[in-house]
Amino acid sequence: HAGPERDARPAPLDTAAAPWRTPSQAAANGRANHPSRGTTMSRTGERVAPATATMQPWSLTMNRVLEHAARWHGTRELVSRRLDGGLDRTTWSQVHDRARRFSGALRAAGIGVADRVATLAMNSARHVEAWYGIMGIGAVCHTLNPRLFEADLEYIVNHAQDRWLVADPVFAPLVAKLLPKCPTVERVVFLCDGAGLPAAPVGAHAYETLIAGHSTDVRWGEFDELTPSGLCYTSGTTGHPKGVLYTHRSNYLHMLMLLQKDCFGFASQDVVLQVVPMFHANAWGLPFAAAAAGAKLVMPGPKLDGQSVYELLEGEQVNCSAAVPTVWQVLLDFLDSKKLRLTTLKRVLIGGSACPEGLIRAFRDQHGVDVIHAWGMTEMSPLGTTATLNQQAAALDPEAQMPYKLSQGRVPFGVDMQITDDDGRVLPHDGRQPGRLKVRGANVVARYFRGTGDGEAREVVDADGWFDTGDVATIDAEGYMRITDRAKDLIKSGGE
Ligand code: AMP
Repeated sequence: HAGPERDARPAPLDTAAAPWRTPSQAAANGRANHPSRGTTMSRTGERVAPATATMQPWSLTMNRVLEHAARWHGTRELVSRRLDGGLDRTTWSQVHDRARRFSGALRAAGIGVADRVATLAMNSARHVEAWYGIMGIGAVCHTLNPRLFEADLEYIVNHAQDRWLVADPVFAPLVAKLLPKCPTVERVVFLCDGAGLPAAPVGAHAYETLIAGHSTDVRWGEFDELTPSGLCYTSGTTGHPKGVLYTHRSNYLHMLMLLQKDCFGFASQDVVLQVVPMFHANAWGLPFAAAAAGAKLVMPGPKLDGQSVYELLEGEQVNCSAAVPTVWQVLLDFLDSKKLRLTTLKRVLIGGSACPEGLIRAFRDQHGVDVIHAWGMTEMSPLGTTATLNQQAAALDPEAQMPYKLSQGRVPFGVDMQITDDDGRVLPHDGRQPGRLKVRGANVVARYFRGTGDGEAREVVDADGWFDTGDVATIDAEGYMRITDRAKDLIKSGGE
């Protein structure tokens, strides 16, 4: 008989169903279901014995991404803009070493599988190290958006039960205010050296001092791929923010999706300016995809004014970048006023809100830059669609291509999408009739972390796994989706 036998054991570390499970329970569970114990997973997610399978149960865990970058693209650079405007340079190899040292510090303090460690920081290589350092030992990297109201941040930290808070020194005043109201936070670490340590809050650690005290010899990975890796709260709707708890598996598959040529298509030759902040929507998965591709990664820190972005683009020979429309408008206005041209940039990924036609035209006509419009949401890890040209659209002249480039785009492999009426009846892909936009896939949320906090049901998908995005859209015969309206409230704090 062909079908493998079902393993009677419960699902591993079912953090989606019981994300508040204690670390010791979680760790025990993770061990019991370690791939080396001979279990594997069926298509529907149940544990099954491997029976006839002959392939390695290679867990899809995020430590592998940075390990790959360090081993095969070790000298490729990461460049970070400091607050004082200067640039810090490091490599994937160094980031890997330092991330492991940070893991060692976390471990030594008793942080383990499924524990939440928050970050409150702008884009920098140190922040990337913290991400991988946290995830490498199975802890959860919880990114906090510094632009949120203090009351929201307080709610989120307490809801997530963050144990450590890793922050840029510039946010010290905010941290000092939050700390007394967030009793679960045991330790604050500032991403700086001893000399840069803020005076308050008292007792905080300097990241550099901390990692200097630990070696790279720390066990990474070796837990189940369904172990949670990241936590992002959506600020997108009214009511309490809702947490989306990513798993190693969902982030890994999302990262592979970004590498598709019809998606972001990163490659080792790319130099990527990551403007999208690491504190919002999983940073569009860029710190993962860039590492996997072995691309050079350039981080703008807090400086998103036209001059600073222009200097980074030209100075670092950036060929590819990703940001919300407003950032690009600021840059284009600056270039216009100074009569400057971009010489190395070839494509920009624009999403987060609808991309104005003027941006696509200005980039194309004045700078020879191709805009790729993208749509997604925190609940999707976050990528949903990209407006890359299919074979028919590519054959058209540039003017006829504009409606395609302006659309929110097509799904990559890994996302499934449909539109329905209010009664759930599936609507045709005729490009005319709008309906509720629904998605499903391995990178799509099934339920919010510890419920929604305001009494809503936990499951947020229907019986067939469809998640209602709250967006209203048409889909045309070629699969291009266009958002026409919104059935939800949306609040964006800007820049993300
Ligand atoms: P967030 O989870 O904060 O990233 O917000 C996701 C929401 O932003 C989506 O559900 C859309 O309503 C909106 N959004 C994201 N990208 C686009 C886009 N390219 N065009 C229009 N709306 C977008």
